[in-house]
Amino acid sequence: MKKLVKGLHHFQTQIFLSQRELFERLSKGQSPDALFITCSDSRINPNLITQTEPGELFILRNAGNIVPAYGASNGGEGATVELAVTGLGVKDIIVCGHSMCGAMDALLHSEKVKNLPLLSSWLNHAEATKRIAMENYKNLPDEDLQNVAVQENVLVQLENLRTHPSVAAKIARGELNLHAWVYKIETGGVFYYEPKDGQFEPLTQYSNVEDQKPSRYSFERLI
Ligand SMILES: [Zn+2]
Repeated sequence: MKKLVKGLHHFQTQIFLSQRELFERLSKGQSPDALFITCSDSRINPNLITQTEPGELFILRNAGNIVPAYGASNGGEGATVELAVTGLGVKDIIVCGHSMCGAMDALLHSEKVKNLPLLSSWLNHAEATKRIAMENYKNLPDEDLQNVAVQENVLVQLENLRTHPSVAAKIARGELNLHAWVYKIETGGVFYYEPKDGQFEPLTQYSNVEDQKPSRYSFERLI
């Protein structure tokens, strides 16, 4: 905790003062560009990897970057999505999975988390991911299977997102775009699902990520 408190002091005495204008503006309200849904994994920092400032990303995090389908859970996920989409009017939703995801490992190997009943139950919202990976890629080595699960899961969660009325209505009006990303911890690279090609491709400054409404189905494995 000492490190955290020291950091807090540094923020208040150095960073906050040097960006006083930004924080003053933020004290009047927020207007984030996007809802960024990612895993709780400590190795991911959405603002760092997208080089965004406070106020630019509305962030939802949980184990496995999961969004239960509408009505399937009374957790905070649905409320957060509704607030972002209807309340704040975000134009884009990004579901960003990541390499070496412990939640995806647990999804494929439920025996590893038998002492974590809440996590086990939470992962039921990714059951489709598990079935897709296990039934269609069962001959792959474990590491590759996990990578498949990471990629499939972001697509499954996008499908879940579409079941939320606030999301479905805005998509129908062309006012909201959904994006499937995978972040590679070991390289810093981000891959995005390109619906035209049905596969994940490196996301670069030249990638066309506007106007995307990815719908799933068979993509080539990246890894
Ligand atoms: Zn994870």
